Amino acid sequence: MSFENLGLHESILRAVKDSGYETATEVQTQAIPPGIEGKDLMVSARTGSGKTAAFILPSLNRILASRGDGTGANTRREKGKIHGPRVLVLCPTRELAMQVSKAAQTYGRHVQGLKIATVLGGMPYALQIRQLSGPLDILIATPGRLMDHLQSGKCVLDNVETLVLDEADRMLDMGFIDDIKLIASRIPAERQTLMYSATFAGHVGRLAHELMRDPLRVDV
Ligand code: AMP
Repeated sequence: MSFENLGLHESILRAVKDSGYETATEVQTQAIPPGIEGKDLMVSARTGSGKTAAFILPSLNRILASRGDGTGANTRREKGKIHGPRVLVLCPTRELAMQVSKAAQTYGRHVQGLKIATVLGGMPYALQIRQLSGPLDILIATPGRLMDHLQSGKCVLDNVETLVLDEADRMLDMGFIDDIKLIASRIPAERQTLMYSATFAGHVGRLAHELMRDPLRVDV
């Protein structure tokens, strides 16, 4: 399927073209249009399927759509107040979080004033705290470090409109279930939730049921 037919904003299509992609992959074709509409999705897709773009592109589109004219990010935000991100992506490992962050920067390169922060374990707190205190569109985080920032009041999730769980099965295998539930409880219930996982059997399926409303199932 051509990217032009998926409903993406022109500035996002331009970044996709810069990346040299000719057609959308199967998971992108199936997950981008309902993602733009704000549907909850439970998606089974392997690494290498193009799944990162499948959740980043509609998230960027929703950020642009709610800005109205697609420009002038964050201009009306109060100085000194922590507003927190509009999109939160949780990843199991630092490596994956860094890859997602790089992808968000690449696909968001033509989105004016886009602010992306990455919060990972094993990295200094100071820079992360500085990033969290400014205007922010997308936050990419590993659950443990995000919990530290939530508990110290350095991050708020009141403005999150889209929650993405990438490799949810791995996050649960690593013991992050309580952190994920607590993080989700700090986000308004009327959010969109996108859950990506190799499997939705057992505890991953139960978590999906708990976190999502009438999700669309995408299995590629
Ligand atoms: P992922 O499954 O997100 O780890 O992506 C795997 C690789 O596929 C990444 O290097 C992407 O840059 C690349 N990719 C993503 N979407 C497309 C596409 N539509 N056409 C060609 N390559 C793509």
